[in-house]
Amino acid sequence: MAVHHTKARTILTRYKTADPWFHIKYSMNLYRGCQHQCIYCDSRSSCYRIENFEDIIIKENAIELLQKELKSLKEKNTIGTGSMNDAYMPIEETMGLTRKALEVIVRYKFPLHVITKSDLVVRDIDLIKEISRVHAVVSFSITSANDQLSSIIEPGAPVTSKRFAAMKKLSDAGITTGVTLMPILPHINDTPENITLITEQAKEAGASYILPSFGLTLRDKQKDYFFKKLENFFPEAYREYIKNYKGQYAYMSPNQKELENRLKLLCQKHQINMAIPYYKPEDIIQTKLF
Ligand code: SF4
Repeated sequence: MAVHHTKARTILTRYKTADPWFHIKYSMNLYRGCQHQCIYCDSRSSCYRIENFEDIIIKENAIELLQKELKSLKEKNTIGTGSMNDAYMPIEETMGLTRKALEVIVRYKFPLHVITKSDLVVRDIDLIKEISRVHAVVSFSITSANDQLSSIIEPGAPVTSKRFAAMKKLSDAGITTGVTLMPILPHINDTPENITLITEQAKEAGASYILPSFGLTLRDKQKDYFFKKLENFFPEAYREYIKNYKGQYAYMSPNQKELENRLKLLCQKHQINMAIPYYKPEDIIQTKLF
């Protein structure tokens, strides 16, 4: 892995409408490339034009730009912490760009959605709590209840048990947390036991929602990389992909219906929502009024 520095022209990607999954209107990528190196990561697709996904690029003027851009934004809406990297990957521990960005977000009072696979997020509980006065939600991306399996499919990220321990700390601090249960990989972690264990551990860790996807997207370079890893680590699953995958963009688990039903029942039992709570400016006005 090589680390490069660059000067970016902008730091926030603005969407016309908030995305339907996470309700994010602005996406903030402080880094390019991701040290977590999940074998299924969509950021390897050609459309993102990342030549070497193993290299990390640090946007050294990110904080300066963020300050300028937030100051000029007319619409207060949710900022997401990046879509092609994890804002809490190991390099953040020394660079501290995410922490500095949160300080700016506190100052400009914007709502926030964090998505991460790292327990490093615990470091920033103080700032996320502060942002919660407006709106803050932290989603932990969790795909396998088994630490050994998570270390194969997400080799650079802290194992699942560490993510749940971090979630508990955030929930105990009063921060809204949940699980993005995606991608559930066909023929690998698409088992009823996996879904049950993750839901039970999510409940224990104080999750208020679980957002699932029982399949993954596959295309060009990303698909080739994923298939190579499958062949290496999961030869049986690889044979199933070769047999069943017909070139479609979304390849869903053959157990999708059964897993969806199970998750719904488990979420009802544990009183966990299946949607992310999102920022509604009127709620803030109501709170101020009363
Ligand atoms: S943490 Fe997210 S961005 Fe990073 S490699 Fe994994 S899926 Fe990709």
